[in-house]
Order: sequence, then structure tokens, then C-alpha cells
Amino acid sequence: MENMKNDKFNCEVAVIGGGPAGMMAAIAAAQRGAKTILLEKNAAPGKKLLLTGGGRGNFCNAESDLRKLAANYGQNGPFLFHSFSQFGPKEAIEFFNGLGVKTKIENNNRVFPKSDRAADILNALIAGLNGLNVEIVCGARIIGIEKENNSIKKIVLDNRDDIVAKNYIIATGGKSYPQTGSAGDGYLWAQALGHKIDPLSPALVPVGIKEEWIKDLAGVALENPKISAFQNGKKLFSARGEMLFAHFGVSGPAILNIGGAIAGLAGNGAVFIHLDFLPEIINGELQKKILENFQKNPNKTVKNCLADFVPAALAPAICRVAAVDTEKTANNVEKKERRRIAETMKNFKLEAGKTFPVESGMITGGGVNVAEIDHKTMRSKIVANLYFAGEIINVHGPTGGFNLLQCWSTGRLAGISVSANIR
Ligand SMILES: Cc1cc2nc3c(=O)[nH]c(=O)nc-3n(C[C@H](O)[C@H](O)[C@H](O)COP(=O)(O)OP(=O)(O)OC[C@H]3O[C@@H](n4cnc5c(N)ncnc54)[C@H](O)[C@@H]3O)c2cc1C
Repeated sequence: MENMKNDKFNCEVAVIGGGPAGMMAAIAAAQRGAKTILLEKNAAPGKKLLLTGGGRGNFCNAESDLRKLAANYGQNGPFLFHSFSQFGPKEAIEFFNGLGVKTKIENNNRVFPKSDRAADILNALIAGLNGLNVEIVCGARIIGIEKENNSIKKIVLDNRDDIVAKNYIIATGGKSYPQTGSAGDGYLWAQALGHKIDPLSPALVPVGIKEEWIKDLAGVALENPKISAFQNGKKLFSARGEMLFAHFGVSGPAILNIGGAIAGLAGNGAVFIHLDFLPEIINGELQKKILENFQKNPNKTVKNCLADFVPAALAPAICRVAAVDTEKTANNVEKKERRRIAETMKNFKLEAGKTFPVESGMITGGGVNVAEIDHKTMRSKIVANLYFAGEIINVHGPTGGFNLLQCWSTGRLAGISVSANIR
């Protein structure tokens, strides 16, 4: 890697943004013989990539049915279908295996490096870039893009150097976690170049909860509760999966996946989250099981009995909501109290509170409108020598490796198409 000083750079492909999408695009372009430069404003590429999967790098989802895979990306999912047919989970895993990264598949098709180190993915990409002689220029913050007629003429760095390329790929990511470099610059350029930017919103975001006592539950994890959201008495959606209580509210994969939608409901009335801690058991069955448990343990406190059904730390909150004294012994609990306990475990209601800004989402919802990008090439339909890749495009998935897979796939397609556009 080198820092560039006052040079005028002429190349065939300039990739703006050294994140997963940009690195993959640069590799694909260089593999096809294009003289490629990768521009990254940070001191090193891939800062956000290092955070992924809690540092373990859940870099792909191995869903092999491409229609099912695309369905995970919501209404813009079909935009990715061609891209996945060219470079989907199988190809992404093979690609990293080819770079020496051994991989493993965990539950829900989540793919990780065998080492559990996101850094291994990043190092493999950097080695790949170096092996193909891609010019990686760090500390290179693009501050402007100049257009002439229907094409980009040059890009300007903050040190006033110009980069002149035949084609450009914008892969500057979203606007989330700006400390990693993804500060939303690309949206402004895309808009100035004539592209429509769909409104930005936080996606994969936690949910703040109004009840103050929620902080007492911080750290409690649930494996597979049913989570439903209600507004104005109407059930809006339900999800199943892992969740986690935090001092401010609720988080964990299943909550993150619906957090953006919940944030979007703010302003139209209070939103309530209903948690069913034991979705496999119907209410009547649960009441029977609680009775059996209480009869077996007459001198145990209610809170200790409930620890046989849910994490122990959750029992006091259930008692609080059900208005039952936690220290009461099981033999003193009345039938109506038992009923209230079961009802609370099946329908634990919390009111959604504080919403988080776009910067807090693990992903930025919205972005460059997909109707203005050719899904077969990732080429702009508005600017002749411009391509897009990665999170800047308005197509995002849930947790589970879907978002990095989108980056590998669109990055690959952009890099291949851009080199074809030179020849
Ligand atoms: C905490 C966290 C955990 C995550 N975990 C996972 C996970 O396990 N699995 C998964 O699939 N996804 C995960 N994601 C999402 C994933 O990280 C993103 O989808 C992915 O990083 C997007 O890649 P990108 O290349 O499009 O953009 P980015 O990774 O955001 O990279 C864009 C790059 O462009 C650079 N740049 C921006 N502006 C300029 C400029 N003006 N000039 C020069 N360079 C610029 C930035 O510095 C940055 O390096 C996670 C996200 C977060 C925040």
C-alpha cells in the first residue's frame, strides 16, 4: 500500500471505497486485465469488515436456492437474482477457499472463516489485490466527482490530486457506523450525478424500550422466542429467533431484523412488542406445567420455580408484570396468580421507545435506487462510465451473512462488467 502525493493518476478502473464490495470489484477488474486503482480514505481498507459477526466475520449465507436467497432481501431482492446466478454463495465460498481461507457453516446457513477471525477474510482480500498489482491508495478521500456530458471526467482527492479513469465504481458503503469510514459520501455524488437516492433509514437496528426496569434484564439472552409488533391494536408482524435484552431495550439477531421496520412506525402511534417466551407450548399446557412444577416444589419461591422455564434473570420481571410476589413460595400461589404468570410468559408486553439514528444501524436502509442500475452489469443507467457495488445500493438483507454476500456478488459483477466496458 502506498500514499499518493501530487501524481495525476491515469487508469482504466478507479474503485472508490476499500470495503468488501470495493475490494472484490477491484480484484475482479484486475483479474480481467484492467489497470485498477482502489481508493480508500482510511489508513487501511476494510475497517467495517473487521467488525462483522462480532469480529468472527459471518461473510456469507450458504442458502443454495437462489430464489429463496433473493427473497431475503425484501422487495428489491429480484434485483440481485442475476448477480447471485453469476456469483452466489457457492462461488463466494470457493473464492475465499481459493485465497486460502478455510470456512465453516453454522446454524441458519451462516458461513464463517474456520479461524473465527474476520481479519483472515480481510487479509486474504488484500493479498489478492496485491497479487494482481491493484494500486491500493489509502488516506485518499474523494471530495468531488466531475462529469462531462454523460460521463465522469475525473475524481478529485482532498489533497487536490485528480484521478482520471475510463470507468469508475462507487463502493463507499452506507451511512452507518461512520467511524469506520462509511459516512454516506457516495450518496451525495450519486445524487449530484443524477441518481435517485431512496430515503435512508437505520436497518438492522436495536429497539429502545420505554419500561425503565428493562435495564435490570441487560445481558439476558433468549434462544428462540416469538416476537410480534403491534400498533393501534393491530398485529403488524412476527418473527422468531435469538434476542438479547440490553440496558436500553432489546437487541440480538431477531430484533435487529425487525428494528428498522419498528423505527419506521414511529409517529403513527405507540408500538408494542409482545414476547412469547415459550412459543412451542400453548397457554393451557403451560398453566398445567406450571401447576405440576409448583406442586413438586411447594417450598421453592416462585422466582426459583420459573427458572425451570426461562432464564433465571427473567423470572423477577415476569413476576413484576404478573403482579405476583417473587418471594412467595409455590404452595402459596393462587390459581389466578398462576394463570397471570402463564399469560405473561406467553405475552410479555413492552412499549417501543427511543429510536436510533441511521448511523446506529448495522446497515443503512435505502440508497441508490435499483431501477437506475442495470442488474446484469451494475452499470449506471444514467452515467455511461459509472458502476455501483455493495451497501450503497438500496438492497439489504437480514443478519446471517446476507449483506456481505450482496457485496461480494455485486462487487464481482461490477468488476467484471467494468473490464468488459474497456475492451
Ligand atoms: C457492527 C457490524 C457488524 C456486521 N456484521 C455483519 C456480518 O456478520 N455479516 C454480514 O453479512 N454483514 C455484516 N455487517 C454489514 C457489512 O459490514 C456491510 O454490509 C459491508 O461492510 C458493506 O460493504 P461495502 O463495501 O458496501 O461498504 P463499507 O464496508 O462501508 O466500505 C466502504 C468504504 O468506503 C470508504 N469511503 C467512504 N467514503 C469515501 C470517500 N469519500 N473517499 C474514499 N473512501 C471512502 C470507507 O472508508 C469504507 O472503507 C455488519 C455491519 C456492522 C456495522
